[in-house]
Amino acid sequence: APSPSPPTFLPVLERIAEEIERTPGRGRPADYIPALAARDPRSFGMAVAELDGTVYGVGEWREPFSAQSVTKVFTLALDLAREGDELWEHVGREPSGNPFNSLIQLEYENGIPRNPFINAGALVVTDRLHTRTGDAAGALLDLLRTESGNPGLTFDKEVAASEAGRGHRNAALAHFMASYGNIDNPVPDLLEQYFRQCSVEASCADLALASAFLARHGVRADGTRLLTRSQSKQINAIMLTCGTYDAAGDFAYRVGLPGKSGVGGGIIAIVPGRCTLCVWSPGLDERGNSVAGVAALDRFTTLTGVSVF
Ligand code: GLN
Repeated sequence: APSPSPPTFLPVLERIAEEIERTPGRGRPADYIPALAARDPRSFGMAVAELDGTVYGVGEWREPFSAQSVTKVFTLALDLAREGDELWEHVGREPSGNPFNSLIQLEYENGIPRNPFINAGALVVTDRLHTRTGDAAGALLDLLRTESGNPGLTFDKEVAASEAGRGHRNAALAHFMASYGNIDNPVPDLLEQYFRQCSVEASCADLALASAFLARHGVRADGTRLLTRSQSKQINAIMLTCGTYDAAGDFAYRVGLPGKSGVGGGIIAIVPGRCTLCVWSPGLDERGNSVAGVAALDRFTTLTGVSVF
């Protein structure tokens, strides 16, 4: 077997962790459910996965956290792999410029959400994946386990239950889109799938490895293809333009990589053809992106010169 790649970026990760440690002001953990509110905003972890499956990191890079909207990348990949371009008749590909859970554009755009990474768009993707697999959340878990090599990766039932308890806005989005005929499954079934999806617990190591197919132009860890090269490019492009919601412009400006955040404080970022990164710190800014996470990715591309630009 070929020897694993050397941890090329480890010194830069160590430097970033030290800088972050000295930086005050980490934002505030999401407080809409107790499990997220209880996380320490000073937690920080960062991992890099090389294309051959070598993974290394700093800080709490092996600590599981709530993946939340980071999972939207994986459900999109799974659905696009199955249905191809027909998906784009049901969800758009434009940045929304609005908060991730906004309802505002849906009415004048006939129930077609702006993109797959805001909640409305992710609900459509999960709905379509559920129709095609009979178990969208299960298909997601399968992909994450296989690509991360972590069979213990799973849902947090308590988080899923709290999501459901506080899920009025997601329920409203789903019902509203259903009124335009843009949801296939009964709304309660879809919401159950979506809340389970949000509740995935995974570490920086897990999510960096699991997203490596997007750096391998669509090829999975075992060498088989999940996406065409073109589909992999498309997902990376949508991550760049829509992956951090109404902060996507600022993220592209500062980081210069396709990225996807979640309210658990995780962010994945892709360097196509080279490696993937995952950073986690639970304190969020007002747009729902990890403060230390964005800062760390900004420092990574600034210090290394590695970016898509
Ligand atoms: N569970 C959250 C929600 O649906 C996920 C949002 C996010 O991570 N941005 O509101």
